[in-house]
Amino acid sequence: MSVSPYFNCPDFSDDYIELAAKTLLRDYMAWCDGDDLVPVRTEVIAEQFLEYTIEITNEGIFSDPECLGGIVFDGNCIKINATVENHEGRYNFTIAHEIGHHVLHRDIYLEQRVGENNRIICREAGDKPLVEQQADRFAAALLMPKEEVSAAFALVDEGSLPTSTPTTKALRALANKVVVIGGFSNVSNTAMVNRLVDLRLVSGAKYQTGTPQDFLRKSPSFRWVTNSQLSRTAYKLFCWVSEKFK
Ligand SMILES: [Zn+2]
Repeated sequence: MSVSPYFNCPDFSDDYIELAAKTLLRDYMAWCDGDDLVPVRTEVIAEQFLEYTIEITNEGIFSDPECLGGIVFDGNCIKINATVENHEGRYNFTIAHEIGHHVLHRDIYLEQRVGENNRIICREAGDKPLVEQQADRFAAALLMPKEEVSAAFALVDEGSLPTSTPTTKALRALANKVVVIGGFSNVSNTAMVNRLVDLRLVSGAKYQTGTPQDFLRKSPSFRWVTNSQLSRTAYKLFCWVSEKFK
């Protein structure tokens, strides 16, 4: 993470971030005059509405596949790692995440910057700093607006809703239904599962990351699960036994 160490960001509440995304979408919809809201067209918002250039690159720091994206405020440029270009869900989420930095952090960052340092580079690995968590939350709210997700969720056949402690498989199946019903064709299944958790539409579930076995979002207490093959196997066995004898 190469955000300037001098960049101090307020601890924005989830409600604040949701409102910021909703406000941007409202302004965008008024500007585009008649487009469907969903799937949310992140490229159009970034390039045409906010007037950023999107640059797909694998050069320099982006030769590291863990550097998913970056935003250069002065040059109005969003850089996206070429490795995510062909993954529609990740590509759109990354653009939405960078838009989040524009909306939430641009003014604060430019006020606090030192010298010529005027960009934020986003990395995937490790514990995410607060500004990255905020941009993720914004991206989810932008791509999967609360009202639209709730409306799609309400149309899911009641008999197919998961129990109060859903399995990963049940969560993924539910997310897939919400994606199809709501027309969220540019988001990943993982992103929708996490959004359902964020919006408390499912209970007893934890955040997912991209791989099935580490479905608990990385936290200090659970990082051991994702860091070694042995612990992953032990954890899967634990999950199987829990499921079997619950
Ligand atoms: Zn970021």
